Amino acid sequence: MTARLLEGKFFANAIKEEAGRRAAAFEEKYGVVPGLAVIIVGEDPASQVYVRNKRRSCEKVGLYSREVALPADTPKEKLLSIIDELNADPKIHGILLQLPLPKALDPYENEFLNRIDPAKDVDGFHPVNVGRLVIGEPGLTPCTPAGCMKMLELAGIDIDGKNAVVIGRSNIVGKPMMLMLMKKNATVTVCHSHTQDLPSVTRRADILVAAVGRPHFVTADMVKPGAVVIDVGINRIAPKKLVGDVDFDAVKEVAGAITPVPGGVGLLTVAMLMDNVVRAAEMQQNNK
Ligand code: NAD
Repeated sequence: MTARLLEGKFFANAIKEEAGRRAAAFEEKYGVVPGLAVIIVGEDPASQVYVRNKRRSCEKVGLYSREVALPADTPKEKLLSIIDELNADPKIHGILLQLPLPKALDPYENEFLNRIDPAKDVDGFHPVNVGRLVIGEPGLTPCTPAGCMKMLELAGIDIDGKNAVVIGRSNIVGKPMMLMLMKKNATVTVCHSHTQDLPSVTRRADILVAAVGRPHFVTADMVKPGAVVIDVGINRIAPKKLVGDVDFDAVKEVAGAITPVPGGVGLLTVAMLMDNVVRAAEMQQNNK
């Protein structure tokens, strides 16, 4: 069997088109373009690529974007005051602090993230937004799992009553993914590095999400025939070669549907960021 290929581009374009339509409607109604500020500290090359992609996506969708590039030796207080300024800036509806931070600032990561106004927290990392997700209240949610959920919805994949297994329990992917799947009435199991006999758990999954960070970690014998396999992993195994957490070539013969890497979930993450910026602008307006 060869699985249905869930290509990120198709779903990402649909998400961006919708975000673009809502951004235009927002501008027409309130005379302001929804705006994103991305703060980048230091010169990490991968982060620079990510920030460039975000800026291009903003241009494509029709959002205002501002990049705040700071040197690696930026003092902690300076970064906090820049966040405060962006919190107060009416042109900015979403603020994103590009991670990882340089070594000297890294220990304060949570302090910076928590300083972002929850209403502008388009990464969905602020404890207020995490809490809202836990109790099922509307809020801003992390882009990667939100993108996976949107893809499942757009692909017409039924979640209600299904067994979903998430491998990985990080705050940015595994845990929010678990909560979002549970909200859609899946029976969710979360696996992690201490899980015993992982294949016996993953083989029960109708929907299997891999967010581990290990190349080819999910092998064909770990997958139930016909399962939907979502590969969140991004692993660089050579200078120009990215692979996911799933052994794609073997698993596609067993799964019913599968996301590729590259060209899968990564594209959805940026698309959902655009959606979150527009949503943040709409929510801020509604709360005025
Ligand atoms: P993380 O390192 O924070 O978490 C990895 C998780 O995997 C941990 O919870 C750990 O318990 C689990 N794990 C490790 N070894 C395991 C094992 N042997 N068995 C079972 N579980 C095990 O990583 P993360 O931030 O959640 O990211 C995971 C992957 O997703 C990475 O490859 C990352 O690059 C990628 N990622 C992709 C996107 C995207 O846009 N596509 C976004 C975020 C992260």
